[in-house]
Amino acid sequence: MNGPLEGPGKDSGDTIGTQPQTITESNHKRWRRRVANGHSEQSDFRAAFNAAQLAMAIVDRDGRVLTANRALAAMLGAEPRRLVARPIAELAGLSLEGRVRSAYREALQGRTDRMSCTRRLKHADGHTLWAEVTVTPTARGGEALLSIADISERRDLQERLRHLQMHDPVTRLPNRTLFFERLATALADSATGRTGLCYIDLDGFKAINDTLGHRVGDTLLDAVAQRLTQCAQDAGSEECGGHLVARLGGDEFALLVESSTGTEQLTGLAQSVLAALQRPFDLAGQRLAVSASIGVVERETEGTSPTELMQAADTTLYWAKADGKARWTLFDPERNAHRMTRQALSSTLRRAVERGEFVLEYQPIVGFSDDMPRGVEALVRWRHPRFGMLSPDRFIGLAEENGAIVPLGRWVLAESCRQARRWMQERSGPPLYVSVNVAVRQVWDSDLVQDVADILQETGLPSGLLQLELTESAVMGSAGRPLQALQALSEMGVRIAIDDFGTGYSNLAYLSRLPVRALKLDGTFVRGFRTARHQNPADETIVTALVQLAHKLGLTVTAECVEGPAQAERLRRIGCDTGQGWHYAKPMEADRIADLLSTSGRAQSA
Ligand code: C2E
Ligand code: MG
Ligand code: MG
Repeated sequence: MNGPLEGPGKDSGDTIGTQPQTITESNHKRWRRRVANGHSEQSDFRAAFNAAQLAMAIVDRDGRVLTANRALAAMLGAEPRRLVARPIAELAGLSLEGRVRSAYREALQGRTDRMSCTRRLKHADGHTLWAEVTVTPTARGGEALLSIADISERRDLQERLRHLQMHDPVTRLPNRTLFFERLATALADSATGRTGLCYIDLDGFKAINDTLGHRVGDTLLDAVAQRLTQCAQDAGSEECGGHLVARLGGDEFALLVESSTGTEQLTGLAQSVLAALQRPFDLAGQRLAVSASIGVVERETEGTSPTELMQAADTTLYWAKADGKARWTLFDPERNAHRMTRQALSSTLRRAVERGEFVLEYQPIVGFSDDMPRGVEALVRWRHPRFGMLSPDRFIGLAEENGAIVPLGRWVLAESCRQARRWMQERSGPPLYVSVNVAVRQVWDSDLVQDVADILQETGLPSGLLQLELTESAVMGSAGRPLQALQALSEMGVRIAIDDFGTGYSNLAYLSRLPVRALKLDGTFVRGFRTARHQNPADETIVTALVQLAHKLGLTVTAECVEGPAQAERLRRIGCDTGQGWHYAKPMEADRIADLLSTSGRAQSA
């Protein structure tokens, strides 16, 4: 059976061309024969072909028009008969290259079922339109049906939508999505060499937004966007073309230098952004001043992923904020490594407690009157499998942040009490007390009173041999739970000491109303009179007054960081009760404390 569009009807001569020179003789004859043999069924199809809205043509295996309908003629702005025998691709100004061109050829030759592509077409009057061109071989072979759909409106709409999706409505700048697309492209293109970005965050924008309203906030963002755009244009005009300015959300902007010449280019740009934002903004009768913090990152594109670069930028911006805002900061690998270690430590703290990676050292607390040890302070260390022995400064803060201080603190307490009890049993003479540091979070987030009671019970250590060290900030203004805990512990017979005394703003009179029994004078005081020559009389006066007042209020005083004999002598004269520091001993393992005690025990009994 014949296909529906295989031949023109008798009465539809307007689509049949006159004898063309370019068409081959045999082809044309065949065509005429089919026209002569046409049935009425064919003429129906013929009429439908002509009346169809869709632009269509029957083409030969070389893509030359055998017949074209009115819609196609209208689309191209030509007389239908003038289209005949000419290559359709040429008529429509279609540029078909590479793979599309060979797919087109294959379809014309009947070697594939169908091909389609989207192309721009030229109308005779010069305007262009977006078209979807489809080629389907007919059943007979040697001919193909070519249809062209005008998709200009759809394309426009798509483009408008894409623009909307890729831009921020407030500032009309490229948004996060477009920024990431461009960043990914820049990093994927190894020819780019180096890429950099300034990650900008306004300082105090939230306050402006909250006090003056979102309308003013938006206007300010728009004005900032304009200044940033100007900076980017001024900086990028010479060799590298404009830099991309994007709004990443809220009051965050980014300036992307797709192919950078080095860090200086980026820091220079950051500097110019700071300068541009320094001029006040006159908006709706208000004069507003803003500043910005900028994280600057510049990298070789090879081996850098967009996520990595953004993380680095984010960290660097955070540094700029932390360092005091209104500045740019350049990414620093060393500072970053430190941050990474912090993260690694923080996330493994809890498991480390379970695995028993912590150890305690003990530092003697010595009586000034006789140089005899009265007690020891337990100081925790982390024997880290990868980083070696870590001091508490590296992890106590992290443990307080993430709550791991609760199980860690419980372990320290239990281990110290166990050890103190062992010394008590092994040694004759007056027993040593053990002084354990307690973080404020242990008082809030765990039942410290119950824990202490249980541990004393389990280890058999008399409560009078346990001292707990809390910082001023932990006990100052304490009410409710912490105060009740302190009272309960004190009633149990446990001594409460204030650690690092003098670094906060404690009121001594207030402290004396709390169940506190001892003060540990911070090392900074003691440092003031390290040597006889370099003494600070003011420090001495203050310490003397403090010690006298503390004694009047019934508190004992321990001096921390006693590093030399001169300090020890003067602290003794001032009336300090006990001292702790390198002058006597550095923190050491439990066994070495035992040795030390046996010698001092002998000294005592001698
Ligand atoms: P801290 O409680 O003030 O402990 C005294 C610190 O001073 C110790 O540092 C000790 O080694 C050091 N030190 C002792 N004598 C001298 C000296 O003569 N000169 C100088 N310059 N320093 C001296 P360390 O062991 O590094 O502990 C640091 C801090 O970590 C402690 O300060 C304490 O606040 C905290 N910490 C230690 N262990 C624990 C614990 O088990 N729990 C809690 N929450 N904090 C702890
Ligand atoms: Mg302490
Ligand atoms: Mg201290």
